[in-house]
Amino acid sequence: MSFAADLLQGKRAIVTGGATGIGAHIVRRLGLLGAKVGIVSRKEENLQAAVNAFAADDGIEVLYRVGDVRAEDSVQSATQSLAEEMGGIDILVCNAAGNFICPTEELSPNGWRTVIDIDLNGTFHCCQAALPHLKQANDGGRIIAISTTQANSGWPTAAHAGAAKAGIQNLMKSLAAEWGPYGIRANWISPGPIKGTEGVDRLIIAQGRSDEVLERIPLGTFGDGEDIANAVVYLASPTGKYVSGTEIAVDGAARWGRS
Ligand code: NAP
Repeated sequence: MSFAADLLQGKRAIVTGGATGIGAHIVRRLGLLGAKVGIVSRKEENLQAAVNAFAADDGIEVLYRVGDVRAEDSVQSATQSLAEEMGGIDILVCNAAGNFICPTEELSPNGWRTVIDIDLNGTFHCCQAALPHLKQANDGGRIIAISTTQANSGWPTAAHAGAAKAGIQNLMKSLAAEWGPYGIRANWISPGPIKGTEGVDRLIIAQGRSDEVLERIPLGTFGDGEDIANAVVYLASPTGKYVSGTEIAVDGAARWGRS
């Protein structure tokens, strides 16, 4: 790790979906750099197992609350309760998401709504709930949404997720403008395919699409969760203080088509 070990000392962060995959990499990195971190998602068994692993493997104490980002009340109470226990919120990472592969011709309205609800509406709920706390952040609050590069190109067979993530990107631009006067920076990170995650295992490898996808990535490999965590640290720490309303693509220069 090449960041100063105390870079995020005194910072308080919430990471939605922080028990698994990319979210867990982000939590671990924030915690190892000194931040207090709280994670929120639906399944208590996953949250508890992750908190135990962060303590045993990394020596970091992570808080958790059960919450569903689709439900405004659930998000409000998890956010408020974590803010009280941590003493505030400086950093919000909107990472929770849902997705599945389905040609749009066969996509049910319910399938469409579910993904829009988790990804886009969930991000809106989390930003709204964190706002009063982010306004009080010492060096300016940070909102970091985890998007995808396919929000820029269109996402055939996952149009629901592509549209939701494109909406998130536009939301971040609006928040950067509206909440900038509160000192809040709002940005998004667009990962390419990240190995060892549910997304790559289920949506690419299990579909037999690895070679086809890797051919579109000039750097020739899937990314690591660490690559996304490092970009979060850049945006969350003083290094990112003059960056707002924009994207950091961490995708090996992936070329998905028109963008
Ligand atoms: P993952 O392991 O499936 O993580 C998704 C997390 O979201 C889970 O911890 C899940 O926890 C939580 N979640 C789902 N629905 C929720 C809800 N309604 N309320 C609260 N939490 C909810 O996925 P991942 O692959 O690491 O992806 C993490 C982020 O990176 C996502 O935003 C994804 O779109 C983005 N991304 C991933 C890749 C990739 O290659 N994996 C590429 C580009 C972008 P519970 O089940 O406990 O609720």
